[in-house]
Amino acid sequence: MFKLTFQKRPFLISLTSLALLASVGAACAQEQVLNLYSARHYQTDEALYGNFTKSTGIKINRVDADDAGILARLKAEGSASPADVILLVDAARLGKGDSEGLFKPIKSTLLESAIPSTLRAKPSSEGTTWFGFSTRARVVVYNKLKVKKEDVDTYEELADPKNKGLLCTRSGSHPYNLSLFGAMTEHLGEVRTEAWLKGLVTNMARPPKGGDTDQIKAVASGECGVGLTNTYYLARIMRSSAPEDKQIMDSIGVVFPNQQSWGTHVNVAGAAVARNAKNVTNAVKFMEYLASAEAQNYFANGNNEWPVVASVKVSNPALQAMAGGNFRSETIPISAVASNQTKVQQMLDRVGYK
Ligand code: FE
Repeated sequence: MFKLTFQKRPFLISLTSLALLASVGAACAQEQVLNLYSARHYQTDEALYGNFTKSTGIKINRVDADDAGILARLKAEGSASPADVILLVDAARLGKGDSEGLFKPIKSTLLESAIPSTLRAKPSSEGTTWFGFSTRARVVVYNKLKVKKEDVDTYEELADPKNKGLLCTRSGSHPYNLSLFGAMTEHLGEVRTEAWLKGLVTNMARPPKGGDTDQIKAVASGECGVGLTNTYYLARIMRSSAPEDKQIMDSIGVVFPNQQSWGTHVNVAGAAVARNAKNVTNAVKFMEYLASAEAQNYFANGNNEWPVVASVKVSNPALQAMAGGNFRSETIPISAVASNQTKVQQMLDRVGYK
């Protein structure tokens, strides 16, 4: 008798666990989720995610961190990572995540037709690992009293002896600069780019420090004559009503460099599906949603950037004022720019660009 009961128990337990598993399974089928790791934190993004959930029923769980934090976390989590989609800014960081094997290649005819081939990763037979969803330009700002526009309207001239003691930049190793210098390597070749970088170091007004906004302020105050910044930092100052910001804009000029040659360096903010994504279908759906007109507007405008989908137009007065309508942007593939970063870092070390 006792023996029989003992034998029956495991059977009962397994029935209970089956029932439990079934109910968990049903809950999962009902609740569609997407786990998003994002380096973006703009107010308009809330509407972007909200609209995606409304139209698809897919709930978004979001982890916010900076770009380096996200890449470190993905690496540490490995195959146990819950991440489905990663949002990062700058091609250098997207390229780094890609080279570390953190992204899953996907095939989407929608994304391949909507997003220019120059603004995404180089495809392999398995698909494409990352896509740009907005663009920013890296432009020159100069002090109107100290510098003439025609002396700083190309990247090459920033290294010219005529600009000695005038240049300020953030660290050469920052992704924004790694990408710009990676683009220069595509345009000029390695030998000329290294000589150019050496010229930049010679022309420094002070050792590299701070972020892009700090360079804008130092140029406005006259501590520096000329600097480099991403366009959205300028747009933020242009849209501000604070008197000190108005003063900054009065003191500086903005140049979109290389309009007579290969065009201004343009970078992307973009997205990738995580290598170990559990909700791949939802992840691809979200990526495709980012290419819709509605999402493109939120995504680009949230940080004063330009949409990548050609048919989508934003009306952002600061961007309009800054670029004077249209500007010529470089047409080299951003994937080539991203893959030059190791080479660029070696050049920076050789010329002593901190
Ligand atoms: Fe930034």
